[in-house]
Amino acid sequence: MDYAIDKAGTTTVQALLDAAGASAEDLKAVWLSYPTASFVPAAQFASELEVAEGTETLRTYGEGDCMADALYKVIGELRMATECTCTFGHEGGYQLHTIMGDACTKKGRPTDIALMRDLAPVMEKQAICGEGRAIGRVTTQALDLFGAEIEPHFAKRQCPTGGCEAFKTYHVLVSKCTGCGKCLKACDDGAILGKAKFVHVVNQKKCTQCGQCLEACPEGAIVRAGAKKPKTPPKPIPVRRK
Ligand code: SF4
Ligand code: SF4
Repeated sequence: MDYAIDKAGTTTVQALLDAAGASAEDLKAVWLSYPTASFVPAAQFASELEVAEGTETLRTYGEGDCMADALYKVIGELRMATECTCTFGHEGGYQLHTIMGDACTKKGRPTDIALMRDLAPVMEKQAICGEGRAIGRVTTQALDLFGAEIEPHFAKRQCPTGGCEAFKTYHVLVSKCTGCGKCLKACDDGAILGKAKFVHVVNQKKCTQCGQCLEACPEGAIVRAGAKKPKTPPKPIPVRRK
């Protein structure tokens, strides 16, 4: 969630949250927009920091938010804010944005982490515009602070928080399914198994996360899940619902 801030100088994230009327409860980090351009983890909310003049936004991240997705969006915003066409600011920003976009859509490659680690410090030093240097700096910062969340997107093509849209999965709840078959008919990918009066099951290997089954189910029996998945049977079972 984004909050407007208008305070520059020495302060704390806690003071900024208080002034914005936002609660720090359940937050794991915040982002302070350019020119401060910095992620701050919850453990440092009470520590003093310098907020640069012109910093307008404080963005909060809760436990279900993914910091890989957060970094992807921040890099995109910083790229949009500059018209600089220098090699390191423009091309480097494009590269990092593409790499993070791939990571958040199940296309991350294990070698990309090393590429980012190499490119980001060079951008931080060599980019001509402030936004380009900020992209380099916050990329390194995010990898240092949230590596445990970001790196599985590359190493295992997994999103530990389940916050990335592409990693969300669809499931049929045993307690609600009546075995009507409407979801099976709605699925163009043949990803639903079932027959009349049997609880239907989503084949995760075939599912393309299109969401058509969710729309089609009249019982609200299909749910979209992040990191926490509901327990479902591996194959269709007789309906339990009376
Ligand atoms: S989300 Fe789309 S592909 Fe996946 S089971 Fe539902 S209808 Fe099929
Ligand atoms: S999940 Fe919904 S649409 Fe699919 S069989 Fe069960 S009740 Fe019908």
